[in-house]
Amino acid sequence: MCVTISVMVTSTVEDYLKAIRRLQQPTGTATVGEIARELAVTPGTVTTMMRHLSGQGLIDYEPRKGLRLLPSGEKAALRVVRRHRLIELFLVEVLGFDWSEVHEEAEQLEHVVSDRLLERMDAMLGRPTHDPHGDPIPNGDGVLAHSNGRPLADVDAGAFRIVRVSDADSALLEWLNEKGLIIGRMFEIVRKDHIAGILELEILAKTQVQLGLKAAESVFVESAE
Ligand SMILES: [Zn+2]
Repeated sequence: MCVTISVMVTSTVEDYLKAIRRLQQPTGTATVGEIARELAVTPGTVTTMMRHLSGQGLIDYEPRKGLRLLPSGEKAALRVVRRHRLIELFLVEVLGFDWSEVHEEAEQLEHVVSDRLLERMDAMLGRPTHDPHGDPIPNGDGVLAHSNGRPLADVDAGAFRIVRVSDADSALLEWLNEKGLIIGRMFEIVRKDHIAGILELEILAKTQVQLGLKAAESVFVESAE
C-alpha cells in the first residue's frame, strides 16, 4: 500500500481555507459553528476537517476554542483568492462577461486552472492589481494589498467615489450596473433616511438613485472631496 506524505490541497480543503480566512478577518479567529453555517455543512463535518487541516499544519485548532490559519494555510488560501480574482477579471475583460456573472464561474474554475494558465492570464491582463469588483489581487508571492473604502451605509453626507463592491450577490451587482453604480463612479449623497432605511444618491448631477441601506453595506466608497 502506498502512502503519500506530501500536503495535498484538494478543492474542498481550498474552500475551507478560504472560508476560515474570510471569517477570521474581524477577530483573528473563526469557530466551527461559523464555518458550518458559511459552507452549509454540519458542525461534525467541520470538526473532522479541522482535525485533518490541523494534522497537515494548515491551521491552529483546539476543540472548543477559536481556530485560525497558520502561515502555510494562509499562503494556500491566498493562492485560491489570487486564482479567483484573476479568473473573474479575465472573464470580464477578455470574454466579455458582466461583473454580476463571474463570481459563480470563478468559484468553480479557481480549483482547476493550472499555474501555467494562470500565469498566461496574469501576463495577458497586464499584471492587474484589482478584480472587476475592486478587490485587490494577491501577487504571485502571496502579498495582498489592503481592501479600499468604507461601506456606503456608514457615510452620511458628501461626495464619494465607488472603489469596491461585494461580489456575493449577483442580483445586486446587476442592479448596480443598471443604475450606473460601477467602480470609479462619483456621486453625492442627497438624503439619508435611517427610519426608511434608504439612501438617495445623485450621480454626476443627472440621475438620482435610491437604494436600501442593506444594499449599501455591500458598496465601498472613498471620499471624492
Ligand atoms: Zn468573486
